[in-house]
Amino acid sequence: MSDRDRMDNVEPVRLVPESQFKFKCHPGIECFTQCCRDINIILTPYDIIRLKKKLNLSSEEFLAIYTEPQLLEKTGLPVITLKFLEEEDKDPDSKLCPFIRESGCLVYDDRPTTCRYYPLGVASLSHKEDADGEEFYFFVHEPHCLGFKEDRLWTVKEWRKDQGVDIHDEINAEWTDLLVRKRSFPPNMQLTEQTKKMFFLVSYNLDKFREFVFESSFLDRYDVDKTALNKIKEDEIELLKFGLKWLKWLLFKEGDFKLKPEAGALEQKMKK
Ligand code: SF4
Ligand code: SF4
Repeated sequence: MSDRDRMDNVEPVRLVPESQFKFKCHPGIECFTQCCRDINIILTPYDIIRLKKKLNLSSEEFLAIYTEPQLLEKTGLPVITLKFLEEEDKDPDSKLCPFIRESGCLVYDDRPTTCRYYPLGVASLSHKEDADGEEFYFFVHEPHCLGFKEDRLWTVKEWRKDQGVDIHDEINAEWTDLLVRKRSFPPNMQLTEQTKKMFFLVSYNLDKFREFVFESSFLDRYDVDKTALNKIKEDEIELLKFGLKWLKWLLFKEGDFKLKPEAGALEQKMKK
């Protein structure tokens, strides 16, 4: 199914946290795992942190085995999607998630954000500093999904809590904000290839980003306090937050990230 076909299944109803819907998904349902094929799942930074840990892989190994690159529409930013697999002797246009098994999802406890939201989708219209009420939800109502015929009543808020979406959204918030802000740039404002590479590194390859911080000239150029350094050495979530703060500075020259005086002077000189 193409992205366009899937968009045909998006109901034009704008849902808020209190909106109600009936839905239940369980292993006994006839359509079990039908939703785990022919979809485009864009992975978030926190998805990678959880999945690579679950599979005991480095971020580079995870990227090489399970993902493919994509440019995010209207932003030009590089993102990754889960690489779906063709089934033997089946329609080559139909592809399956690599984690699907007869018994269900192999990585269920650490499944990506998109899978947790399903059958809902989420959209952000503006970046968070002026985002009051600008995030909303919608149904992805695919014909094969029989969960809507079940009788369990939810609000959107309850569904998000039950599926563990809140923590994903919280950790990914700064990243989502970067995407939304970049999308609102005029199309002629392009990022350099180097900035795009750095966006990819922080977003998806945290093991390499850690090396970049501690083993390149990064710490000669940027003023980073010792407490922050100790935190990011050991803690991947802190490393991600630090990286996103740096990206915000790199992309929009905002935030409290600082070049050391000598590096700042050199940068000014090079601009002249
Ligand atoms: S990660 Fe799990 S829930 Fe998501 S599409 Fe794959 S099998 Fe389905
Ligand atoms: S298609 Fe719907 S009801 Fe069926 S397994 Fe997927 S989410 Fe659950």
